[in-house]
Amino acid sequence: MSALNQSGWKPEMGPSGDAKPATFTGNRALMLEEALIFEIGTTDTTGVDLPEVGNVTSRLGGLERNRTIGMPGLSEPETVRHYTRLSRQNYAIDLGFFPLGSCTMKHNPRLNEKVARMAGFADVHPLQPVETVQGALAVINELAVWLIELTGMHGVAMTPKAGAHGELCGILAIKAALEARGDPRSVILVPESAHGTNPATAAFAGFSVENIPATSEGRVDLDALKARLGPDVAGVMITNPNTCGLFERDMKAISDAVHAAGGYVYCDGANFNAIVGRVRPGDLGIDAMHINLHKTFSTPHGGGGPGSGPVVMSKALSPYGPLPFTERHADGRYSLVEEETVGERHPHSFGRMTAFHGQMGMFTRALSYIMSHGADGLRQVAEDAVLNANYILRSLEGTMDAPFAHSGPCMHEALFSDSGLAEGFTTLDIAKGLIDEGYHPMTVYFPLVVHGAMLIEPTETESKATLDQFIGAMRSVVQRAKAGDPSLKSAPHHAPRRRLDETLAARKPMLVWHEPEEAVAAE
Ligand SMILES: *Cc1c(COP(=O)(O)O)cnc(C)c1O
Repeated sequence: MSALNQSGWKPEMGPSGDAKPATFTGNRALMLEEALIFEIGTTDTTGVDLPEVGNVTSRLGGLERNRTIGMPGLSEPETVRHYTRLSRQNYAIDLGFFPLGSCTMKHNPRLNEKVARMAGFADVHPLQPVETVQGALAVINELAVWLIELTGMHGVAMTPKAGAHGELCGILAIKAALEARGDPRSVILVPESAHGTNPATAAFAGFSVENIPATSEGRVDLDALKARLGPDVAGVMITNPNTCGLFERDMKAISDAVHAAGGYVYCDGANFNAIVGRVRPGDLGIDAMHINLHKTFSTPHGGGGPGSGPVVMSKALSPYGPLPFTERHADGRYSLVEEETVGERHPHSFGRMTAFHGQMGMFTRALSYIMSHGADGLRQVAEDAVLNANYILRSLEGTMDAPFAHSGPCMHEALFSDSGLAEGFTTLDIAKGLIDEGYHPMTVYFPLVVHGAMLIEPTETESKATLDQFIGAMRSVVQRAKAGDPSLKSAPHHAPRRRLDETLAARKPMLVWHEPEEAVAAE
């Protein structure tokens, strides 16, 4: 048996019932099968010629490994093909439409990539003397100025490396502010519809988490929130626009009530894409908000690049933010403030979030995106993102149940439920059917406030033609689920793999490769 067939490819029946003839290789036309590198590589093959190791005396004192490492080897062309084939099995924003909601998978303009690769930015090292990296510090500082301007806030912590990391930064600043005034508040209120990172962050920082209910409109229940406020509440974490795709119209009233009760307001700003240039969170009374540069400002994410989650802060909270940060001097030079000097400067900072200064490559990309769009371009980003989402909502509400369609226009994403599907058909079946249609599925089963949720976010860069084709595919798949088409229950039919046991994969992940004999022995 060839190594390729060991990876489990079996000839299958097509959706129409006609058997697809098996191929000798397991490949399907130009879609190539790919085994694990351990299955195709051997320990005695290598792509490079290394000189023989001379006579060396080990200084490891008997701790040296006494077996070979067993790393698989391939020739250079085989290695290149292996990884190129694997890369072709990835779905990516550069291949097709990515309707994931709550993720903002938007186009990454090539201009950003070009700027990030300029040697003066790409080759700097975080331990270089500051006099030699004035340009890089200027980029960080300039981006910080834009983020403060766009949000109407007082300061910004640039170092957090993702949205969730930014949440931790904001909550630690709130904690430091409470500690500074000797206030032992211990509860953070989080709405039911929140992203899982919100309660996780609050719990990780040592707070207990309590839910705030939503109204039938899908927004925070202001009266229920007010009723729960008190001397034990450290603050709230509210996503705006929220994960039902709705703007929290009562945000100012929420902030005023929380402040009056002595708490702080954290805003999850992952959905800033929908309101950038239109709403300044600072005007809504927010104390801290993370911005996902990889969502709103188009830096790559998913498999494409690291995240970056700067946190803008109010005047009240800024003194407690993390180090380091950049400072611009009157003579135009930049410096890095890396230490708190107790009793003098920045004595209240809670410390560091990261070893160095944050995700430099993401800063250059985000600044290039912001500057190439300008103020008017950024406002149009928000307007077009909202327009596209409403086009999807109104085009599909006749076919699918849209639980908050009555709450008015949505923001940047449209939410649907599984209500109305035939007995036994679920959101998962729709997601798998979409794979056959050539789409990465939308976000499923989130937010939890809707049964069998399907959250679709088109973003601003998708054309009407792209949206129309997607809407057509959604209508087709949903109609099959409503009619109880049995072939949908076993979709995807055209993907390299059929339905995998996702529960088993999550509960018993196989993270180590064993020689086939060992694998049998380990059973
Ligand atoms: C994406 C997202 C987060 C987390 O951001 P990461 O960069 O993935 O850590 C938090 N909240 C909401 C609403 C999000 O969409």
